[in-house]
Amino acid sequence: MSYDVVVVFNMAARCHFVAALLLLFSGVLSFPVGQEKRDATTCGYQSCHATKPTMLNVHLVPHTHDDVGWLKTVDQYFYGDRNNIQHAGVQYILDSVVDQLLKNPDRRFIYVETGFFYRWWKQQSSSMQQTVKQLVNQGRLEFVNGGWCMSDEATTHYSAVIDQMTIGLRFLNETFGICGRPRVAWHIDPFGHAREHASLFAQMGYDGFFFGRLDYQDRARRMNAKEQELLWRASDSLTPPLADLFTGILPNGYNPPEGFCWDQLCTDSPIRDDPDLEDYNVDDVVQRFLHAAKTQALVYKTNHIIMTMGSDFQYENANLWYKNLDKLIRYVNDQQGNGSNVNVLYSTPSCYLQELHKTNLTWPLKTDDFFPYADSAHSFWTGYFTSRPALKRYERICNSNLQSCNQLEVLGGPVSRKGLFGQGDSETLRKAMAVAQHHDAVSGTEKQHVADDYAKRLAKGWQHCQVLVSNSLASLTGSSAERIYCDYLNVSVCPLTESSSKFSLSVYNPLGRSVTWPVRLPVNGTAYAVTDAQGKPVDCQVLPVSRATQEVRRSRGFARNELVFQVRAPPLGYSSYSVSLLQDGPPSSSSQHQAPTSIQNEFLQVTFDPDTGLLSGLSNLKTKQTIKLSQNFYWYNASNGNNVESLQTSGAYIFRPNSSTPVMVSSKARVEIFQNSVVQEVRQWFTPWVSQVVRLYADSKAVELEWTVGPVPVSDEQGKEVITRLDTSIKTAEFFYTDSNGREVLQRKKDFRPTWQLKKTEPIAGNYYPINSRAFIKDDTDQLTVVTDRSQGGASMYNGSLEIMLHRRLLHDDYRGVGEALNEWSGLFPDGLVVRGRLLLSLEPPATAADTHRPLAQQVVSQPLLSFTKGDLNPNTRLEFSGLQASLPSAVHLLTLSQWDQQSVLLRLEHQFQSWESKTSSQPVTVNLQKLFSTLDVLGVSELNLSANQWKDEMKRFDWSPEKEEKPLLKTFEDPSVWEITLRPMEIRTFLLRYTIMGNLHNQTLPEHMNLSQQCMERQVYFRSTFHT
Ligand SMILES: [Zn+2]
Repeated sequence: MSYDVVVVFNMAARCHFVAALLLLFSGVLSFPVGQEKRDATTCGYQSCHATKPTMLNVHLVPHTHDDVGWLKTVDQYFYGDRNNIQHAGVQYILDSVVDQLLKNPDRRFIYVETGFFYRWWKQQSSSMQQTVKQLVNQGRLEFVNGGWCMSDEATTHYSAVIDQMTIGLRFLNETFGICGRPRVAWHIDPFGHAREHASLFAQMGYDGFFFGRLDYQDRARRMNAKEQELLWRASDSLTPPLADLFTGILPNGYNPPEGFCWDQLCTDSPIRDDPDLEDYNVDDVVQRFLHAAKTQALVYKTNHIIMTMGSDFQYENANLWYKNLDKLIRYVNDQQGNGSNVNVLYSTPSCYLQELHKTNLTWPLKTDDFFPYADSAHSFWTGYFTSRPALKRYERICNSNLQSCNQLEVLGGPVSRKGLFGQGDSETLRKAMAVAQHHDAVSGTEKQHVADDYAKRLAKGWQHCQVLVSNSLASLTGSSAERIYCDYLNVSVCPLTESSSKFSLSVYNPLGRSVTWPVRLPVNGTAYAVTDAQGKPVDCQVLPVSRATQEVRRSRGFARNELVFQVRAPPLGYSSYSVSLLQDGPPSSSSQHQAPTSIQNEFLQVTFDPDTGLLSGLSNLKTKQTIKLSQNFYWYNASNGNNVESLQTSGAYIFRPNSSTPVMVSSKARVEIFQNSVVQEVRQWFTPWVSQVVRLYADSKAVELEWTVGPVPVSDEQGKEVITRLDTSIKTAEFFYTDSNGREVLQRKKDFRPTWQLKKTEPIAGNYYPINSRAFIKDDTDQLTVVTDRSQGGASMYNGSLEIMLHRRLLHDDYRGVGEALNEWSGLFPDGLVVRGRLLLSLEPPATAADTHRPLAQQVVSQPLLSFTKGDLNPNTRLEFSGLQASLPSAVHLLTLSQWDQQSVLLRLEHQFQSWESKTSSQPVTVNLQKLFSTLDVLGVSELNLSANQWKDEMKRFDWSPEKEEKPLLKTFEDPSVWEITLRPMEIRTFLLRYTIMGNLHNQTLPEHMNLSQQCMERQVYFRSTFHT
């Protein structure tokens, strides 16, 4: 490291010492500001209406379900635009609800989607804001869930889910304080439920969780057994009850009981209670309601039941609902005088939850998840695991770019936001990503124009981040050269590299450990010289651009060749490479057209069948493992609704093949093989719409399958769902494994559900599960792991087999509301979308497989960010930088580093192994927060809950007892010291760090020790107290 760093380190050491003393001291005092007193307010559990212990209490929960985009875009929904598509306007809903809440203090309302509430709040006068604050402080308006959106559970990655929850909850915290903190998680619409989501909710401090959709067979069994309320143990690594979450299944999805919908969108009769008028119906309504309540109570355990009084975009004219609910409560409760034992009240999910908690009952324990979801025998919602694969990949890339943008905002300091290249921000992309997590966004279940809107928001966010990244890198490198970002490198398009004879490339690595990464750049020369940051030559090779790439890039580029080399970037930092043209002309490396038999590097050997050109085997040369491995592409014939068993079609949500036997795209592949010192690749051409490259880079422990699928032909009027299938000699006994939201892995078994006897109705679709980052198959000796680059659906239909759905093109709507066929095309692709992606395969012994696939998957999720500058670099440019003092231990992942406010950053560190996964890596590991960063001087640290809306030590959750087991006692583990924190398998810890940039200390006169400590103390007080207002 340079001279500067040494000096700065010494400066820093002084403050560390003072700060450490201060923290030792403050360890006794705890934090100077305690819990804020709120005498005037009665929000939370204190604001619940009284119930009657000897009666059946019916909790009426007025609510609206507001999709953050679906049939209309998020802003069309907010304003109530395009009501010809769907009548829905969120601004009017909030206007109307507030007005109606003020009319009767008994009334309650919950609001869920902070992305919408934020839009509304900004437009209110300060007196209206005061009024709303009062409603919130009195518990009359309550926030539930509270994320920016209600995220999808099958197709989201945990890091983006945590981020979207964090920004929603932060807004509520900063706007309403403690009374704005939701206590209940509420996923009433997502199409199946991930175990990892439940684990995250538990770690975010929620007391309970409610949802509406689960498999129809599962529901029937649970109703019978009164098991619709349960305790979900959502992690097999975290010590109970850390990831235990009380979970309630709502009785009618999220709709009111039949006959009691009083919204303007409904047609049920209002309560007509004037006996002098025609059609008096109070007795009838009361009787019907009592019947509905008593029927519902039969399938739940306690004398409390919940009714969701609302639905999609309801309450735009809230008077209709409230006027009738007021009457319902009055007339039903009047019957208590006649011996009725039913008590109805305005309530909220948290008030209902509190009553369940008070019963002190024990609850059935669940340890698996709620996938797949079927609403009837032939309607499995497993298509959306793959729907809109291009949007799914774009969302994942944007998450990676956002993490880099967040980090560089911190590392570059304030000039990142306003610097050489103008004003940049991370906010725009953060919000676009938050919206994209919605259950009709990344899920692929929205209308086409809405999908376009999500992509546009992400693109705009990335533009804002580009300015920030350029500013930050200018500051860190000391170079003012303009930076170019090439977003189409996957199809060999980058105008700068295609046309320049000299350019440089910087590789920013958002991971906490150094990374080696293959770079492929579109070029037109034949030979190049590449040098690294130390000026050493880097082995590089030139290959011709493939025919498949030329076809998919269409008119967007003109490169003949690709320049390939490996780059290395330090942890949380960048490294620069210079590239100069040596020779123009056609590529020198020649290909062989004869069928290859094998390619190999020091780790792996991949063999091919010379007759078919298909894969035939895979060996790990270090462990001496060999498996048979064949791979090919197939398509399922999508049901057109002409099936004898059911009219259900395949659509955006639902996967329903007409036959269980997929059609092989081609039994042979035409092949070309390229072998050089950097990469060996076999290009396989199956049909004009399916091709693949099998690649092995020189030092890679995984073989890459880069697939290109599309335009999927539909001139035969058959919808097609394209899969790739890996058939191996591994003896899997019908088990396979998939990750949950990119984190913990769950075991799956064909035609089997862990908690009920499955009646098989859809042999293929009913065996599909979401894959977010990896799936694997294994036996006692071999584990084949596939790391994916986006969320996809997958299954294991045969012993030793793993299939992954890559692309879907369908010609019919599937009758779940979206009203369009999933038939994607665009101006550039009028003949249908072409999608390209990568699968990374590794073969390891099961006991050590995670040591390879965990870091590999993190590299794919948080990929290096490349930027280019033209010509020679200024000789004073700093060519390499790391924001860390050293690489993080291999088990630790740096999940979040982002600016919180001027003086503090949010840091999340994660143990990325499950407890059973690896002998070496699944061990507790300790990190010193003060010795983490190379340029940030950490002055203070406070630990938060996962969603960063509560101090960790103040997070108190309801405790629940499982059936047939002792109530788990919360174990607390001691850290070695204030600065040294220990992470246990699958633990994520969230910290707010108060810091200064060392450069700043360097430039200012250092105050006396005492003054500095005083300053630190003041900041600490400020830090803690601002958080609570
Ligand atoms: Zn929804």
